[in-house]
Amino acid sequence: MRKMIVAGNWKMNTTLPEGQKLAEELTSLLSNYTGEKDIIIAPPFTHLHAIGNVIAKSPIHLSAQNCASEESGAYTGEVAPSMIASTGAQYVILGHSERREYFEESDEILLRKTQLTLKNKLKPIFCIGEQLTQRESEQHEATVKKQLEETVFKLSKSDFQQIILAYEPVWAIGTGKVATPEQAQEMHAFIRKLIRDKFDESTAENMSILYGGSCKPANAAELFGQQDVDGGLIGGASLKADDFYAIINA
Ligand code: PGA
Repeated sequence: MRKMIVAGNWKMNTTLPEGQKLAEELTSLLSNYTGEKDIIIAPPFTHLHAIGNVIAKSPIHLSAQNCASEESGAYTGEVAPSMIASTGAQYVILGHSERREYFEESDEILLRKTQLTLKNKLKPIFCIGEQLTQRESEQHEATVKKQLEETVFKLSKSDFQQIILAYEPVWAIGTGKVATPEQAQEMHAFIRKLIRDKFDESTAENMSILYGGSCKPANAAELFGQQDVDGGLIGGASLKADDFYAIINA
């Protein structure tokens, strides 16, 4: 059956020493972890290798927050999926609304990044989600459907089965305004139905769909308790070891 996953998206936070300290705290909290959730942290690129060493003997897995849409070459400032893989990271967050909005990442670019990520044996954590105006005008389902159709629904079934999806309503990210468990469940069930229609029943049933957006220790258990919510992508609350640990145990 599908995996429950808790992933921490550190975004552009922590210096290297701060990041190492956070990873050390988390490693020590998780030293006797017997839970069944997969645990992932996504520090900045500059920290990946060093933090990989900190978490080496822990149950924590490593993710990048982005990658280049090219393999290698004259692309100053970019980080290729092969470079990420060589740090020991196993995942890459793609399609985050901050990348779509502030860095103008199109569906076309995101599909390229997803394909390159898979080619390098990394698993994409692929984000989708509507803006507040789209929800208010009841376009949230149509928006998410289009985001899927223009990107990961263009993958082969076997490639699609390698990804993790994260539903992140943009109005809930970093705002303290969390989706209700009912809103999350409704959208997750809708996404799973789209996967069933596009691919098949077992692909839909096995797909982990994470919720993201102001997820905290106080609301995680109820969100994760929904039938189609398979864990969370955590921003702000992943920057405190205690909070992230509490969410893992929710
Ligand atoms: P948040 O961010 O938990 O701070 O709302 C979630 C995300 O952007 O992945």
